[in-house]
Amino acid sequence: MRILAFGIHPDDVELGCGGTVILAVSQGHDVIVADLSEGTASSNGSPEERAAEAAEAARVMGVRDRVNLGLPDTRIAGEDPEQVEKVVECIRDLRPDIVIVPSSEDPHPDHASGGTLVKRAAYLSGVHGYHRGRDAWPVRNYLIYAGRTEFEPHVIVDVSSTHDTKVRAILAHRSQFVAGEGRRPTPLNAPDFLEFIEARSRVYGRMIGCRYGEGFRMAKPFALNDLGLLCG
Ligand SMILES: [Zn+2]
Repeated sequence: MRILAFGIHPDDVELGCGGTVILAVSQGHDVIVADLSEGTASSNGSPEERAAEAAEAARVMGVRDRVNLGLPDTRIAGEDPEQVEKVVECIRDLRPDIVIVPSSEDPHPDHASGGTLVKRAAYLSGVHGYHRGRDAWPVRNYLIYAGRTEFEPHVIVDVSSTHDTKVRAILAHRSQFVAGEGRRPTPLNAPDFLEFIEARSRVYGRMIGCRYGEGFRMAKPFALNDLGLLCG
């Protein structure tokens, strides 16, 4: 199965669904990360630094590839026709079975509009009449991950076995999460930020009886043909 995980900025996938991405890689799935922007508006880190860190984090996660769509940071627009077309092209080129997207209810405006943008593109990718230059590609399903705030999840993935690697992937974004070295102080490089990431994972894990979990919402009902699947 091929999975395409979208982030708005180069560290969003790691923060929101990194444990699930690493787990999927370990299970033999073909996983690719697509970042919509280079994160040029962030308080710390040059575009070159951020690109190198994103590549290092991709190596830590073990994903097959990581692409950047080069959309304008702080100006992600969910209904902008050119941005929609770029994301549709990405999906049609990479042909994922499942797409993982940020929540469009995130308080960060770029995350929210990015979530809307990717969902719109995932739908239009399967519409044959939309931009006929590339063959239509219907995405089978998509999962929505939590951003800056928690939500009541529809699905929780047990990421107990991959949490430590997820933290290493987050810390690969040194310009964002490591204080000092002349960097501006931000909520991301505050000493307690990683505690928040762990606390969230522990809360979601507790809800399904494991140590660490990542919560997702589903855009449509989960199709079931064997009740045994409900018992793991
Ligand atoms: Zn972000």
